[in-house]
Amino acid sequence: MTPTWFAANWPQIKSWVESQYPHEGCGLVTERGRWIACDNTADSPRTSYVIDPMRVLELETTGEALCVIVHSHVDADAYFSDEDIAGATFPGTKSPAFPGVDYLVVSVKHKKADQAKLFRFAEVGEFECVFEFDFLN
Ligand SMILES: [Zn+2]
Repeated sequence: MTPTWFAANWPQIKSWVESQYPHEGCGLVTERGRWIACDNTADSPRTSYVIDPMRVLELETTGEALCVIVHSHVDADAYFSDEDIAGATFPGTKSPAFPGVDYLVVSVKHKKADQAKLFRFAEVGEFECVFEFDFLN
């Protein structure tokens, strides 16, 4: 089943990550389903993403919990990479850095989003795909 937040925000998420091409685009979705586009502050934004931690802290001042962390892959499939796992878990323990938060990975090829997959922490060090959205451009 398509998550409500996804249906409500997909047009904005899609246009944001496409606009960031050939860099990875990123952002946050709150528990109330609010989409927040974030700048990618990574040193190598074509192959990685970093969201300013202040954007997450700002959320706490609004009382809204973080629900989903979104990022895109440039000319690559929507999969949860080793780097994504490393960024989503604590070193050593492999427990989730943000318990209860899901990760949406969007594949953007030739400036067009073509697939989105939602990943959820399954067990130590592993994330499973719980929702997949494919579409033709
Ligand atoms: Zn990734």
